[in-house]
Amino acid sequence: MNEKRPQCAVCNLGGHLVDELITETDDTRAVIVVVRQVPTQVCDRCGTTTLTDEVAEELARLADAQQGNAVSGTVVVDFDQRQIAAAG
Ligand SMILES: [Zn+2]
Repeated sequence: MNEKRPQCAVCNLGGHLVDELITETDDTRAVIVVVRQVPTQVCDRCGTTTLTDEVAEELARLADAQQGNAVSGTVVVDFDQRQIAAAG
């Protein structure tokens, strides 16, 4: 592959960012929102996880949207499908 990986801005180890799907949990609101399959970039050297601004905004939007769907508890959402997998 000739694709050039962006370099890690955090470490000075020459790490490169690789695409990875992670699970993000937002527990700062009444309803805890767990978002699966969140696209991130992880440094292959220091392990720092970087969310793009777009993804971070979408996560905040998802967390906000779920506040109206349940009074409390935990909601699990897939980032891509925006589907509620479980609530309780
Ligand atoms: Zn790094």
